[in-house]
Amino acid sequence: MKLLEERIRKEGLILSDTVLKVDSFLNHQVDTQLALEIGREFARIFADKPITKVLTIEASGIQFAMAAGIALNVPFVYAKKKKAVTLAEQVYSAPVHSFTRGETYQVSISQKYLGPGDQVLIVDDFLATGAALVGLVDIVREAGAELMGVGCVIEKSFQEGRSLLERRGVRVHSLARIASMAPGEVHFIEEDSA
Ligand code: 5GP
Repeated sequence: MKLLEERIRKEGLILSDTVLKVDSFLNHQVDTQLALEIGREFARIFADKPITKVLTIEASGIQFAMAAGIALNVPFVYAKKKKAVTLAEQVYSAPVHSFTRGETYQVSISQKYLGPGDQVLIVDDFLATGAALVGLVDIVREAGAELMGVGCVIEKSFQEGRSLLERRGVRVHSLARIASMAPGEVHFIEEDSA
């Protein structure tokens, strides 16, 4: 997605050769028009799939799942990272290891909002090690729902996330795929337009 690549080049802060900061437009302050455009792009890419629900993980996937849900005219659900008292009902959950924070946490979704009969598109802001998305994929399968694919806004293709998902038989589409980066420069893989 050219528009997104341009914004990353212009506003992205490359903190090291593995960490990209995009919090001026994607995941702290959010450019709402860009987020809606991202949602429409996911809807276009997965137009051949009968998606009934979009799934993400709190917090920074929410705006893109909502945008995709609007474009597809379906609800979205976000997995919670902390077990809230109000989630006392039955949940599906999976452990996720965060390499950036060096800790493992549980993500949970109420069984009321995911189950057999759902045809799910998973959306997230970043695909890095893939740990967060593998957790969501496991939840979808545990729930007996059907996974239609995974859409990521930014993929750091030099990390193992994509291959981890593909080994699980998951179709992955990312709107900006970074082959490599270093402070002051970023190299993208040809746009994923399929
Ligand atoms: P994972 O390693 O599980 O694929 O990524 C987990 C989460 O870490 C992503 O959803 C994203 O929120 C965050 N993350 C991973 N790499 C980066 C990065 O380079 N920049 C930012 N801002 N967040 C990242």
